[in-house]
Amino acid sequence: MKYGRKRVLVTGGAGFLGSHLCERLLDDGCDVLCADNLFTGTKDNIAHLLGNPYFELMRHDVTFPLYVEVDEIYNLACPASPVHYQRDPVQTTKTSVHGAINMLGLAKRVGAKIFQASTSEVYGDPEVHPQTENYRGSVNPIGPRACYDEGKRCAETLFFDYWRQHGLRIKVARIFNTYGPRMHPDDGRVVSNFIVQALEGRPITLYGDGSQTRSFCFVDDLIEGFLRLMATGDDVTGPINIGNPREMTVRELAEMVVAMVGSKSGIVFQPLPADDPLQRRPDITLAKETLGWTPKVTLEEGLERTIAYFRARMQA
Ligand code: NAD
Ligand code: UDP
Ligand code: UDP
Repeated sequence: MKYGRKRVLVTGGAGFLGSHLCERLLDDGCDVLCADNLFTGTKDNIAHLLGNPYFELMRHDVTFPLYVEVDEIYNLACPASPVHYQRDPVQTTKTSVHGAINMLGLAKRVGAKIFQASTSEVYGDPEVHPQTENYRGSVNPIGPRACYDEGKRCAETLFFDYWRQHGLRIKVARIFNTYGPRMHPDDGRVVSNFIVQALEGRPITLYGDGSQTRSFCFVDDLIEGFLRLMATGDDVTGPINIGNPREMTVRELAEMVVAMVGSKSGIVFQPLPADDPLQRRPDITLAKETLGWTPKVTLEEGLERTIAYFRARMQA
């Protein structure tokens, strides 16, 4: 690109994170191409962008080649919640691996910078806490989560091999649990489940004894981290953890959501899914130093906005 707007491809742009990213890129003056097969994403997530002449939706599956001319690529296409990625596990691995190969091939042909939405799941059920980028992880390669975890690990391998072998400009972010408006109400993730259950006055489903921990990042903070990483010099490849280090047990989250919604929901205990990580918290020292980034939105504030989104959705 010499003149005009930066042309940016967002794969998975009709999903939860992708729709926020597309919106932010348009606000920043980019020409955005969203490629999505609408497996878990929806047109509703991006309906408000469809009238913008600099936004384009392309129904496309990233496991197939894609020939377009762009300056930057954000590769987000992949179902992200355990319920969704375990529905068709073979397709999940194909999406991560073949999708990465195709997007890397595209980046190589057009000389684009390319960002990979990797995940804290590359650390598996971690023995190192909090997780730093040099920790290599503890993933069960044959368990029900492996299609996602190993798919994402292999995608990272491909990114670093294209970097070493072909000199591609790569940016790998390891994303920790993120929440906010446009989460799928029935994708089974903990924040959306708890809010929807509390709003409907149904029991809150706590898996195991609820003592496992997670650290939750509000979507706007995460997207800011993405843009800062993409804007770094060519020497910065990542992987870089992006997430909010405030850690809590899942039980504490349940109590907080019930109190904030003002719900009468009780708690029901259900079995802990196989290979469910016991603890997770990002060490974000590297993101602070390299990107000057820290999350700004408190959990209280973020949950307030997310509850308002689901409440409005249920009333509509
Ligand atoms: P999401 O399910 O809302 O979005 C994923 C998008 O990818 C959807 O729009 C879906 O239709 C699309 N997609 C799936 N398979 C595809 C394919 N083969 N071809 C084209 N499009 C396809 O999930 P999300 O939470 O927005 O996650 C986005 C990315 O961020 C994913 O790569 C996910 O692994 C990663 N991530 C998310 C979180 C989180 O907490 N939300 C945490 C870690 C990593
Ligand atoms: N590819 C694509 N768009 C492009 C260029 C390549 O989708 O603009 C895909 C193509 O399917 C190819 C893959 O990316 O198989 C990897 O490309 P690369 O050039 O690395 O390898 P090769 O073409 O030799 O397989
Ligand atoms: N969880 C829960 N009840 C639910 C959904 C999830 O207790 O209704 C737990 C789940 O077992 C896990 C944590 O909440 O320990 C986060 O689950 P999620 O699927 O959101 O993300 P991930 O396990 O991928 O971090």
